Amino acid sequence: MAEALASAAVSTPAGSLSAPLPVRAVLPWALFVGLLMLVALYFVGAEQGATAVFAGEGVHEWVHDGRHLLGFPCH
Ligand SMILES: [Zn+2]
Repeated sequence: MAEALASAAVSTPAGSLSAPLPVRAVLPWALFVGLLMLVALYFVGAEQGATAVFAGEGVHEWVHDGRHLLGFPCH
């Protein structure tokens, strides 16, 4: 099975696979996704009480299971 997969990979014509992406093309998207991940991490981990951006418990309740899953202190 592994030999069949290896021969299939070798027999793939060069150039049919996508060309490697230059770092300069990927870097802005990586930074953007990293920023989105930090915002998501904030809302999951710290959106409660004194650090809350939005009043009320709506955001906290919405991400509550993820908060416990990731081990953030809650209640
Ligand atoms: Zn909780």
